[in-house]
Amino acid sequence: MLLIGSHVGFNKNTQILGSLEEALSYGANTFMFYTGAPQNTIRSQIDEKLTEKARQKMKEIGMDEKKIIVHAPYIVNLCNEEKFDFSVNFLVAELERINELGIKYMVLHPGSHVGIGIEKGIENISKGLNLIFSKVKNNNVTILLETMAGKGTEVGSKLEEIKEILDKVEEKEHMGVCLDTCHLNDAGYDLEDFDEFLNTFDKIIGLEKIGCIHINDSKNEQNSHKDRHENIGFGTIGFDKLIKIIYNEKLENIPKILETPYVDREYAPYKYEIEMIKNKIFDKDLIQKIRAKDI
Ligand SMILES: [Zn+2]
Repeated sequence: MLLIGSHVGFNKNTQILGSLEEALSYGANTFMFYTGAPQNTIRSQIDEKLTEKARQKMKEIGMDEKKIIVHAPYIVNLCNEEKFDFSVNFLVAELERINELGIKYMVLHPGSHVGIGIEKGIENISKGLNLIFSKVKNNNVTILLETMAGKGTEVGSKLEEIKEILDKVEEKEHMGVCLDTCHLNDAGYDLEDFDEFLNTFDKIIGLEKIGCIHINDSKNEQNSHKDRHENIGFGTIGFDKLIKIIYNEKLENIPKILETPYVDREYAPYKYEIEMIKNKIFDKDLIQKIRAKDI
């Protein structure tokens, strides 16, 4: 089954119930959210009643709660010593919150080594993950390391780097990978023949480790190491390649999440992008239509 959704908001008054309703308004059958703002670590307590209501609603409409994703905030960085303790403490609390929400997956950026070198960065993140797992009791959450664009000193733009981290983490059953099409393109991977990419992935890491795919077009050329997301079909990857990835039969039942930019920073494009994906027909006038509210 095609599982398609986008990232959605989460605010302290409506929590996961509000996130679910936003996702449904886009015609999505799964979604991803941050448990607060993506750029900070201010988090509110989980409201059991709202969580229960959301789970009830998901059951009613047949949405699989096991496929819903939480994204850790960008500012945690396990690779670098300066932010290490802060990141470990935040992620322990975050995993406890996610367990409370009954969510199974958390996407995490491996981090940036900020000058100490990739090998040292990989060592630090692995050490951090082992420490985190040792501190969270009865953990049911799998951490999905996201493949990165290789901007600045980012770790994880090569599959081999992700593999090295996975090898060093003891709780293997609670580790997986999140692919991001924009990041893969910007990191230098050729998405023309995605089966070939998946074969490479399978050899290095193992297909069974893929827990989520971020579907984004890219504003930049392959191998640019930039990481700027573009709306579906409006970037350098293009609609046809993205559709082939979304409908690749090896990736069935893996949640596909859009993190494309708001039009003019104001209008969420997700309802319309999801529609295009479901119909497999690209609308080259989509952005203009959203802008003119002519849709
Ligand atoms: Zn991400």
